[in-house]
Amino acid sequence: MRISCERRPAWAMCVLLAAAISCNRSTPGPSTRDAGQHTLAITHVTVIDMTGAPPKPAMTVVVSGGRITAVGRSDSLSPPAGAVLVDGTGKYVIPGLWDMHVHSGFDRYERSIVLPLDIANGVTGVRDMWGDCSGPCADKDTIYNPLHGPTAEMVHRWEREIAAGTLLGPRIVAGSNLLDGPHPFWAGSAAIHDTAEARAAVRDAQRRGADFIKVYSGLSREAYLAIADEAKRRGIPFAGHVPQAVSLEDAADAGQLSMEHLIKMPEACSSRPAAVARLTERNAAHPPTSPSEGAAQIRAEVTLLNESFSLAACAPLLARFVHDGTWQVPTLTVLRGLYCGQDYACTHDPRREYVARADTAWWQARDRRLAPVFTAADKRTAKTYFQHEIQIVGAMHRAGVGVLAGTDVSNPWVYWGSSLHDELAMFVDAGFTPLAALQAATIEPARFLHATDTLGTLAPGKVADLVVLDADPLADIHNTQRISAIVVRGQLVDSTARQRLLDSARSAAQSM
Ligand SMILES: [Zn+2]
Repeated sequence: MRISCERRPAWAMCVLLAAAISCNRSTPGPSTRDAGQHTLAITHVTVIDMTGAPPKPAMTVVVSGGRITAVGRSDSLSPPAGAVLVDGTGKYVIPGLWDMHVHSGFDRYERSIVLPLDIANGVTGVRDMWGDCSGPCADKDTIYNPLHGPTAEMVHRWEREIAAGTLLGPRIVAGSNLLDGPHPFWAGSAAIHDTAEARAAVRDAQRRGADFIKVYSGLSREAYLAIADEAKRRGIPFAGHVPQAVSLEDAADAGQLSMEHLIKMPEACSSRPAAVARLTERNAAHPPTSPSEGAAQIRAEVTLLNESFSLAACAPLLARFVHDGTWQVPTLTVLRGLYCGQDYACTHDPRREYVARADTAWWQARDRRLAPVFTAADKRTAKTYFQHEIQIVGAMHRAGVGVLAGTDVSNPWVYWGSSLHDELAMFVDAGFTPLAALQAATIEPARFLHATDTLGTLAPGKVADLVVLDADPLADIHNTQRISAIVVRGQLVDSTARQRLLDSARSAAQSM
């Protein structure tokens, strides 16, 4: 993937700095054994290092000071004296996983529910897509509002505590406030009216420590291009939604580093682009006056897109993404959530126990609003549409487009930590090998972050973020869910400690 120097993300530096701080906690928390001070050795384990090399059985991985210090055959590499030993017989070890599209909660939610669930599910890195919510978000410690992100100050505090080892959590790459048009979709976003405000918003976000600029759907073309230009000048990447007013081609050429949710991709993969454009324009010119009218408009659009679906139609666009180095974060998990709220299996997922009731309440409220206008036929249409989205992800992968695993967690029917494993399984449904799916959550995020020297693979010198699995994830991607232990910044979270993390997160969710 070609990414020019001026687009080298500022966040590469953050990740490297965070990685350089060894795990030196002096008072281990109740739920982990501190291996940061000591040395840890996982013995007789099969190593899947994510470089694409074949799995290496009967290996020993030595961890010290938050880093992997040695990897070698168990019959020749003896664990250092005094090392904490983890018997990896029959087990598999992979680098820690990244969820490249999350939305953090407010401080108490994050500490008691989100961070423990990330770690318990092997998620040792996250990219927060709304890392600095302003206005209403300032009250988030006291007023429950699941729809708003944290402030930059909160995120930075978590990062400092996590790096110091006083808080157990993943590495965090955090975006700016949402830069949206004059009438933002979400309260607390920055409302950008013109190019001067666009440029000022980029400068402000960088001053407030954002790792990247988050662009949103309502930006005008002029404001968007001003953001792109200002971000390029200042060496900070921009990523997010491709605005309605901007084509995917222009966004790729403008240097948008990642595009989320396959926005406009079904339209791009249509053999009848003129008919799609006419219908979208007509619907946009006639805002619906009732839920049933809105449903009828969406029904017409989705039906046309389903009937005209063609991967050949979007092949040139995919080549453009490859040329421009534009990454895609499909977030299939949240896209499925858009319709699966009408499915019993979805609404009765046992993982609801790990979500605060206030959250599941708004998820259900949304689906109750949809239910009267969402017919059985609509459900079939929506499932076909989703199958096409999966096929688009497969086509992107075959074309060589960089695809990253991300969930959009905090949205309906998406779960902290565990949904990332669903995303990986859907990548395999899309045609990825299990290895390629795992790479989309390990080495590919490391490449995206310009941090392959420390992250993403399992080798001496890399950070000690590891997941030990009870079964082979290359034989069945669902085996990523069979987690035996996690190592995060060199700290061992064994199966007992992991269960404690899950239990405490569940009881916190139940009581919130
Ligand atoms: Zn999102």
